[in-house]
Amino acid sequence: MGMAEAAACFGFEGLACNTDGEKVKVLVAVKRVLDYNVKARVKSDGSGVDLANQKLSMNPFDEIACEEAVRLKEAGVATEIIAVSCGPAGCQETLRSAMAIGADRGVLVETSDVLEPLAVAKLMQHVAAREGVEVAIFGKQAIDDDAGQTGQMFGALMGWAQATFASKVKIEGGAATISREIDGGLETLQMKLPVVITTDLRLNEPRFITLPNIMKAKKKPLEVIKAADLGLDLAPRTATLRVDEPAARKAGIKVADVADLVKRLKEEAKVI
Ligand code: AMP
Repeated sequence: MGMAEAAACFGFEGLACNTDGEKVKVLVAVKRVLDYNVKARVKSDGSGVDLANQKLSMNPFDEIACEEAVRLKEAGVATEIIAVSCGPAGCQETLRSAMAIGADRGVLVETSDVLEPLAVAKLMQHVAAREGVEVAIFGKQAIDDDAGQTGQMFGALMGWAQATFASKVKIEGGAATISREIDGGLETLQMKLPVVITTDLRLNEPRFITLPNIMKAKKKPLEVIKAADLGLDLAPRTATLRVDEPAARKAGIKVADVADLVKRLKEEAKVI
């Protein structure tokens, strides 16, 4: 199904579609998560991870998504990059980071409710259809929930082609050529736009955010939409029963010599 058909299916008719050339609008999904350097602490009641007073940052795979979008713009393929985040007001900071990397503007779909991947995919569908984007770039997974589902669900809702875990992206002649690292090799796929791409770690190395770009990002447009106003069913489909800390590691021991090590591996650890 093409963009126009997908748009018609979902009630967003009259979209500007441009699948014949290299001038495309790009949506980048950016999630605010616990910074990857911070050790997650579980709440005392086991209901989830404690985020109070913790450093929150852009999901690392989403930084790669922003970088790729900026490279598409620098290559003359992308006309505009729209960074979108779904979550509480604090996500505006993450959108500013996306704009400091090079996104042109930001859209916050604001809610303080817990959002599962399906709910995020629906919100992204709303923004993508409204904006008439033809390329959407998501991270392959968010490092907080490790779901690895949102980009795929978005692709299904839009009726778009999808290229997951991309390690190389080329867009030319209304088509995307994507390399993916698979077991024992590299797979290269080609698909017509519109397309959703999810980023692998090796796709690129995000550029360093410079101070002048942070200052410029402050002046870029940031729109806030209330998720509750969109009339979408965002209710969670699953319930988290418990979240537990990983089991504490036992203290190590020093062995006297190689013979002692081999004896212990045989008799105590029983691994040889
Ligand atoms: P997940 O399916 O939760 O592992 O997330 C995969 C990707 O979907 C992330 O790397 C983001 O690009 C995007 N994503 C998930 N949740 C959100 C959110 N609340 N706001 C913006 N993007 C999101």
